[in-house]
Amino acid sequence: MTKKDREYYRKKLIEKKQKILERLNGYYEESKDIETDIAQDPIDKAEISYTKEFLLSLSDTERELLLQIDQTLLRLQRDEFGRCQSCQKDIGKKRLEAVPWSPLCIDCQEKAEEEAG
Ligand SMILES: [Zn+2]
Repeated sequence: MTKKDREYYRKKLIEKKQKILERLNGYYEESKDIETDIAQDPIDKAEISYTKEFLLSLSDTERELLLQIDQTLLRLQRDEFGRCQSCQKDIGKKRLEAVPWSPLCIDCQEKAEEEAG
């Protein structure tokens, strides 16, 4: 993965994250702090934290997605992006394009879903 690729996915992830936060902005005041964090570029922050109240205002899906996006941004920073967190193989480009925040390759994802029920 080239530097250009990483930058491309980083932008995609941040855009997605901003969309989630923007949608919530308005019914939760403290999200203003989070917006400021985004302006400062979240990748420079090693630790990303949200208030409990903020997380509670999210639906399970949004919360999960947001956390996955943050983890993926950290993986980008550590140059681990694009690698499956389970089998360590490269995640396919098509999959990265569709769900760049996914920590698993399609095989491991399917396996996880089977195990989940
Ligand atoms: Zn895998």
